[in-house]
Amino acid sequence: MTSNQEVSLEFFPPKTEAGRVKLVEQTLPALAPLAPEYCSVTYGAGGSTRETTVGVVDGLQREGQDVAPHLSFGADDEAAMAALLERYREMGISRLVALRGDIPSGMGGGGHLVHANELVDFIRRHSGDHFSIAVAAYPEIHPQAKSYETDIFYLKQKLDAGADKAITQFFFNVDSYFYFLDRCQAAGIEQPIHPGIMPIVNFTNLERFAGSCGAEIPRWIRQRVAGFGDDQESVRKFGIEVVTQICATLQESGAPGVHFYTMNQVEPTLTIAANLGLIDTP
Ligand code: FAD
Repeated sequence: MTSNQEVSLEFFPPKTEAGRVKLVEQTLPALAPLAPEYCSVTYGAGGSTRETTVGVVDGLQREGQDVAPHLSFGADDEAAMAALLERYREMGISRLVALRGDIPSGMGGGGHLVHANELVDFIRRHSGDHFSIAVAAYPEIHPQAKSYETDIFYLKQKLDAGADKAITQFFFNVDSYFYFLDRCQAAGIEQPIHPGIMPIVNFTNLERFAGSCGAEIPRWIRQRVAGFGDDQESVRKFGIEVVTQICATLQESGAPGVHFYTMNQVEPTLTIAANLGLIDTP
C-alpha cells in the first residue's frame, strides 16, 4: 500500500485462554511487520463472545496495537450497550466496528436484531465523537437485502448516522467492488469503503462461509481448486496467487487500503503482504 493506503487486520477471539495467549504472543508479533493501522476483533452475535472479545482487545492493546472491537446489540438492551461502550472508553479504545450481526443458529430465529444504523446512532448519542466507527458493506450485496439499491440505501443510512467508513465483505470478483464503489458514489456516499480481503486458507470452509454470507466464489476458482484434488500445497499456492492479484489490482486502483480477514493465521496474510511489497520477507 502507499503511505495513504492503510492495512488493517481482523482476528476472532479464540475460545480458550491458551488460544488467546497464542494469538497475542505469537500470531500478532508474526504479523507485526505489516505495521497495521489497527487490528479489529470480531464479536459473537448475541454477545456470546463478549468477555473473550474484550480479553483479546485488551491483550492486543497491551502489545501497543490500536484496536477496533466489533459490536452489535444482539439481545442486549441500551443499558448493556452503554456499559460496554464505557468499558471500551476506559480501556482507551477509540475505534469500533458497528454491526447488526446475525441470529445465532439454535436461537430459532426468534431473536430481535437491531440494524447497524440504529447502533451507530446509539453510539453517537451515547459517546459523541469519541469513537471512530466503521460499518459493514457488501459489494455482492447482503444476502437478506431486498435489492441492490436498498442495500446501498441502508449503507448510506448507517454512514449518515455517523459512521466514518465502511469495510466490505470479502469478494473474489474485483469488478463487483469497483461497480459497487461507483453505485455508492452515485448514491452520495463519500466515506471511504475499504475492501475486506479473505486469504484462501481452507477451501471447504471458505465455500461454506461464502455461501452463507452471499459472497461469490467464481467458477474458474472453484474449477481450478477442484483440479488440485487433495494436493493442499497447490491449493495454498494458488490461493496466495489469486488473492495477491486481487490486492495488487486494488492497490493500483487507489483503494483506501486493505482489511485482511486473517482467520488468526499468519502465513497466508504475511505471504500476500510480502508479495505486494508491504514487508521485506515473509
Ligand atoms: P445491517 O446494516 O443492519 O444490514 C442487514 C440487512 O438489513 C441488509 O440486508 C440491509 O439491506 C438491511 N437493512 C439495513 N438497515 C436496515 C433498516 N434500517 N431497515 C430495514 N432493513 C435494513 N458478524 C458477527 O456476528 N460478528 C462480527 O464481528 C462481524 N464482523 C463483520 C465485519 C465485517 C467487515 C463484515 C462485512 C461483516 C461482519 N459480520 C459480523 C457479519 C454481519 O454481522 C452480517 O453480515 C449481518 O447479517 C449484517 O450485519 P450489518 O451490520 O451489515 O447489518
